[in-house]
Amino acid sequence: MTTNPDNKKPQKVLATYVIIALVVTLVLNIFVMPWLMERSVKETSYRDFLMNLDAGQIKEVEFDAESYTIYYTIEVNERTQICKTGILNMSDELIERLYTSGVDFTSVIPTQSSPLMNLLFGFILPMVIFAAIGQMLFKKMNSNMAGGAMSFGKSNAKVYVKSSTGIKFSDVAGEDEAKELLTEIVDYLHNPEKYREIGASMPKGALLVGPPGTGKTLLAKAVAGEADVPFFSISGSEFVEMFVGMGAAKVRDLFKQANEKAPCIVFIDEIDTIGKKRDGNFSGNDEREQTLNQLLTEMDGFDGSKGVVILAATNRPDSLDPALLRPGRFDRRIPVELPDLQGREDILRVHAKKIKIADNVNFRDIAKAASGASGAELANIVNEAALRAVRDGRCFATQADMEESIEVVIAGYQKKNRVLSEKEKLIVSYHEIGHALVAAMQTNSAPVHKITIIPRTSGALGYTMQVEDGEHFLMSKEEIENKIATFTGGRAAEELIFHSITTGASNDIEQATRLARAMITRYGMSDEFDMVAMEHISNQYLGGDASLACSAETQTQIDQKTVEVVRAQHEKALKILQDNISKLHELAKYLYEHETITGEDFMDILLRK
Ligand code: ADP
Ligand code: MG
Ligand code: ZN
Repeated sequence: MTTNPDNKKPQKVLATYVIIALVVTLVLNIFVMPWLMERSVKETSYRDFLMNLDAGQIKEVEFDAESYTIYYTIEVNERTQICKTGILNMSDELIERLYTSGVDFTSVIPTQSSPLMNLLFGFILPMVIFAAIGQMLFKKMNSNMAGGAMSFGKSNAKVYVKSSTGIKFSDVAGEDEAKELLTEIVDYLHNPEKYREIGASMPKGALLVGPPGTGKTLLAKAVAGEADVPFFSISGSEFVEMFVGMGAAKVRDLFKQANEKAPCIVFIDEIDTIGKKRDGNFSGNDEREQTLNQLLTEMDGFDGSKGVVILAATNRPDSLDPALLRPGRFDRRIPVELPDLQGREDILRVHAKKIKIADNVNFRDIAKAASGASGAELANIVNEAALRAVRDGRCFATQADMEESIEVVIAGYQKKNRVLSEKEKLIVSYHEIGHALVAAMQTNSAPVHKITIIPRTSGALGYTMQVEDGEHFLMSKEEIENKIATFTGGRAAEELIFHSITTGASNDIEQATRLARAMITRYGMSDEFDMVAMEHISNQYLGGDASLACSAETQTQIDQKTVEVVRAQHEKALKILQDNISKLHELAKYLYEHETITGEDFMDILLRK
């Protein structure tokens, strides 16, 4: 037997329709039909009745003694018309006349309705119907209102206990600092005496901050998995309610529950939803502010030694209200940054355990090629590799699968049906080789892992996978300049070979400009402005919008300087390509024919005499 819970809904809807149909039929039968019938009956005088009778036009007569009415039908223009008139007297003479005229006549037998039936139809049935309709409306309203009318202000925090998530610290790769800090909290919850002896008290709250997809939510779940205490998890958006005051009520309820269950952990994901800076704007969101105030009050109110630890996660720490961040509330800030090379390798390994994969896969290489990828992207890369293996009918994933899926995750799927024209393909080949050649000549090393000129769904026509050997934390002025030259290399190759330029360089232009600008406004790498910051970055974990902080004249100067920097590098790139034009032709031809070129092939051709 199969019971599908989803069946309930259609059944309910059906029942609703049946009830509505019944009600409508009843209403029609009881009220509308008699009324319509009444309307179609023509009222005539007694005299008319007698005249019709004499004229022999009447076909049928019916006496209704109860209402003293005579109903009779006449034929008018081939149509039967029902007429009525009052009974004057039921004399024998009338009956005699009817009899002789040959009309069919009867008397209506009064309906024998029992008092019980009367009661049922006249009183109980309408009541039942009203009750049913009322019930239905009430239920509908209930389900429409978030949380239901009866559960106003109840927090819907899910309680996780140790076994339910099953995620351990070992499932989180990299992020060692974050794990260390969180391990301490878990340890405190398990044996608080150790800490109390010295007089240390645990931080009341810890805030996980970092870019999206770096494993903040995962870390919190791992804490739940490691700690032997109840774990309340709620997302910031769940506090946001239609009615003012509801969010605050939910916060109250959450902390009440937490206090009852202490020691325990409360995790508020995406806390920036409710923790935004309060500003004096009129458009300020009353509800959100109340919720935040309640949160602040609750965090102050409870006794830290009881063992309620509040974890929160956000990728917009700079938008949080300062009151939330002050010591005593979220006094520990745990950065969860993008993984470094080792971290990326570990994350790949953790996720590769979940799929069948060849033994000879070099995770280090994959990690190198996926520089800048977040944990979520790496997890996705591994999964894409497995999907690709299935698509090809293999039973395990290979190194090639992994490499291809880096491109898929970062650049989008290969577009099978979009073919480049021969001319376009040639331009793209020269463009991509232009980038790579400029990069190679500046550093004397393999600049790329692989170049492909297969169009991607993301719109990129070619894709260059840069190698990043080792981790870079500092970049010298020369390195930035070389980078800008590399960005301009694509366009430079087009100019040199085709003497015309295309739109293909728009992304390069953007990136080159951003770097050049940052050199001047943020890194103090120009002679004019010395070490003065001309712009600052807000929202550093979400793309980082820069906003200028200087006078209009300085802005003009900055713009001029930016153009100068990019132009100088563009000229340098042109010169490099000019000097190596035979290699440019050779490499571009190879790429054009093979549609893909690896770093080794590239260096082979470049170093070949
Ligand atoms: P966020 O920081 O945005 O909350 P999540 O914690 O939701 O990111 O991470 C999304 C997914 O990415 C996780 O479910 C996990 O599969 C993967 N992931 C992210 N970081 C890591 C990591 N350090 N180790 C292992 N997997 C990770
Ligand atoms: Mg998250
Ligand atoms: Zn380019």
